[in-house]
Amino acid sequence: MINLVLFGPPGSGKGTQSEKLIEKYGLTHFSTGDILRDEISGKTDLGMKARAYMDCGELVPDKDVIAMVIKNLDKHQGSKGFIFDGFPRTKTQARFLRHELTDRDMRINLMIALNVEREELITRILKRGENSGRPDDERSVIEKRIEVYHKQSAPIIEFYKMMHKFISVDGKGGIEDIFKRICDTIERSIA
Ligand code: AMP
Repeated sequence: MINLVLFGPPGSGKGTQSEKLIEKYGLTHFSTGDILRDEISGKTDLGMKARAYMDCGELVPDKDVIAMVIKNLDKHQGSKGFIFDGFPRTKTQARFLRHELTDRDMRINLMIALNVEREELITRILKRGENSGRPDDERSVIEKRIEVYHKQSAPIIEFYKMMHKFISVDGKGGIEDIFKRICDTIERSIA
């Protein structure tokens, strides 16, 4: 079983690369952003609450995200492993994930962080926003999301570094080149 955390600021390519990794390694995609957007489409209480945070680029409160993760983790029993995309995003979530996985006799093998410069992130998300229909793919919200990433999410890098599970990969260039770098990293570190 391989469990990966794909980490990086908004627009660093986590979603795109997750899709390719799932295909190659047969893993289960676990994107809290996608789950939250499904909750919004379903007009659930969680969705309605989460939307207010998401639309302005803030993080949804830990207690709501954690309750949602507990509900969804066990839906995939028997999976060959997970790619956690956009989760964990705070130290509380990182500690919670370690605890939940340990309880299930599982662990994170590697956190792979995609490294992309700020201007490139903004350009990529604005381009995605032309078709994504996501209200948070708009310039002022993108800037807020990048700020939130640096303040609240980037500190969890230390958590994975301490466990010798952190690797940074150059996230610039073509999709296939980045994918190859990620796969090489996985095979060097895990296989
Ligand atoms: P994403 O699709 O991963 O870019 O997430 C879109 C938005 O959903 C984020 O800007 C947050 O508002 C919210 N979100 C997704 N994952 C989390 C998380 N793990 N913790 C808190 N908020 C989250």
